[in-house]
Amino acid sequence: MAAISWQERRVRYLLLTLFLLAAGLGLGGPGCAPLPGRTESLTQLKPPSDTDAGPVKVVFHLPVSQPAVFLTIDDGWYPDSTVLGLMQTYHLPLTAFLIEKAMQDHPAYWRQFVQAGGHIEDHTYDHPFLTRIAAQKQYQEIAWPLDYFSRYVPRPDELRPPYGDYNAAVGMAAQKAGIKYVVMWDAEISHDHLYTLHNRPLQPGDIVLLHWVPGLGREISDLLPILQREKLGVADLTQALAGGPLTVTYLPPPPGQSTATQVYKKSVK
Ligand SMILES: [Zn+2]
Repeated sequence: MAAISWQERRVRYLLLTLFLLAAGLGLGGPGCAPLPGRTESLTQLKPPSDTDAGPVKVVFHLPVSQPAVFLTIDDGWYPDSTVLGLMQTYHLPLTAFLIEKAMQDHPAYWRQFVQAGGHIEDHTYDHPFLTRIAAQKQYQEIAWPLDYFSRYVPRPDELRPPYGDYNAAVGMAAQKAGIKYVVMWDAEISHDHLYTLHNRPLQPGDIVLLHWVPGLGREISDLLPILQREKLGVADLTQALAGGPLTVTYLPPPPGQSTATQVYKKSVK
């Protein structure tokens, strides 16, 4: 995994789009319904002046006192047992922003995810563009999953708007539903590459965007040596937003060495 330029990335997206158009297929292939893909991206971020969510605080990056980043994974259509193994091995505090419909397909998996230390937060009921629907519908899309998720976890208060699409009206609906934070991102793992805002190296406090897509476990596995090289740990997003003591997981040991004794967690103020 390596960072590539925005220009190269645009060319790759263009080529992929042309391929799909030419093939006349979704990602699922002939006879299959198109598979849900990566629905959020760094390319959707707007300038800071346009990022008002009314009464709800919006974060793209969080100040941290320790060298650590946050790992967030969107949608939830493809639960991945490899991810559970990584969480159990490395004590990774992952945050899943789940679509309620996706979570309903595999509730047993998400129970295991929570047991492994994962957080479940709100990515709406059915993944609409929130700014394009009426206020009551906005409220339902945001609030319904909170009721459902509460069967599994303490009631979430973080929202990742589908496609990064929000405005002050969405913020009003979110606040009414009990949301305290709109959580965006400033780095991304996509198609086995790491992208960051302005193409800079990962920095402490970065919120990294991933998706529950086939290959997610490999993408996280490939990210770990990058974090190690940059001397960055993984911090717990929910803890950081709450402002309490922060648990940072540093990882992993160099390849070829035993993982059992070298992975550790460190609690810091
Ligand atoms: Zn999404």
